[in-house]
Amino acid sequence: MRRLILSLVALLVCSGVATAQMKFPQGATKSVAAKTVDKPAPKPAKKKAPPPPKNPPARELFGSVTEPAPLPARAIGSYSKGCLAGGVSLPINGPDWQVMRLSRNRNWGSPQLIDYLERLSSDARALDGWSGLLVGDMSQPRGGPMLTGHTSHQVGLDADIWLTPMPDHILTREEREDKSAVSMLKDPFTVDPEKFTLMQVKLIKRAASYPQVARIFVHPAIKKALCQQADSVGKDRSWLAKVRPWWNHYYHFHIRLTCPPGMDGCENQKPVTGDDGCGKELDNWYAMIKKSAIWQAQQPPIKPGTKPPPKKKQIRLRDLPRDCRTVLTAGGNEPLTKDEELPPEAVAAMEAKEAGPPLPRLTEAQLETLLNGGKLGMPLPDRNPKR
Ligand SMILES: [Zn+2]
Repeated sequence: MRRLILSLVALLVCSGVATAQMKFPQGATKSVAAKTVDKPAPKPAKKKAPPPPKNPPARELFGSVTEPAPLPARAIGSYSKGCLAGGVSLPINGPDWQVMRLSRNRNWGSPQLIDYLERLSSDARALDGWSGLLVGDMSQPRGGPMLTGHTSHQVGLDADIWLTPMPDHILTREEREDKSAVSMLKDPFTVDPEKFTLMQVKLIKRAASYPQVARIFVHPAIKKALCQQADSVGKDRSWLAKVRPWWNHYYHFHIRLTCPPGMDGCENQKPVTGDDGCGKELDNWYAMIKKSAIWQAQQPPIKPGTKPPPKKKQIRLRDLPRDCRTVLTAGGNEPLTKDEELPPEAVAAMEAKEAGPPLPRLTEAQLETLLNGGKLGMPLPDRNPKR
């Protein structure tokens, strides 16, 4: 045995002490190096406790678990820093919905989210003329940060719904991977009236109208269209307060539920005020998307398939609520370690196609117009006098 160790050591020393230092605990390397260069042997070094193994980022830990945590259902933490215990999956085919991008395994949520989606899709079909809903990302089986895409969707209370109606047949697995959602925009500031119709207005209104909904996120141009068209779908405009502009929501909208009553450790956002958001807030968003569209148009075109650069600050397990450690290891799950590769399911989830087309870019003529202070179909809606 001793011999074996010595010859191993000699081999390692030949290939460089640096390697040996990597492979052996500090004490061992020191004495080995000392022997080979013929220096007096140092005193045996005090045994230092090895540093605790560094965990992979939380998104790798949670992104590589394929089963829910067998614990009582609980949304733990906040929408962008939390996890999900006792997650339930939305069946991939329902009477009025189908789940898209199955490779992502993100059709998980709190039981309250599942109930909500079943109710919404059934109401949308019965009352708003929808053939059914196409459901995009919800949460991972145990929630938490994701390997790609969202910063939120971490606690099983968020869901993305496509603004494209469900086809009249059951989609194959491949179709669910390949089919693209349809952009509702004709330019970065304006919805395309052929695509964004009263059907979409009715659906978003309905989605926002249930009391358990905290917020709905849509692209600013969709928010603008809703402000303009709300009166065509009824007198009530109060639902508009919950519908907030956000980046990227131009082929789907995002539903966020409030924490179910009495759910310990679930953090709500501040409730929305009564402001319908059709005034100042929308003005500010238009200023932002104008800047962003000009910036985009001045960048070299992105080659298809280019991934966005990774986020600088990764969320670690220690940044999440303590109970998320229990969620991660519940049911005997052994979390991914630093040197382990992502399991194939997680790699497949990362490689799934984007659900929708890229945001429309300004044409050169449009860019020119904007830079010269002109406007592109951008006049803001009339302010709601009752606001
Ligand atoms: Zn979303």
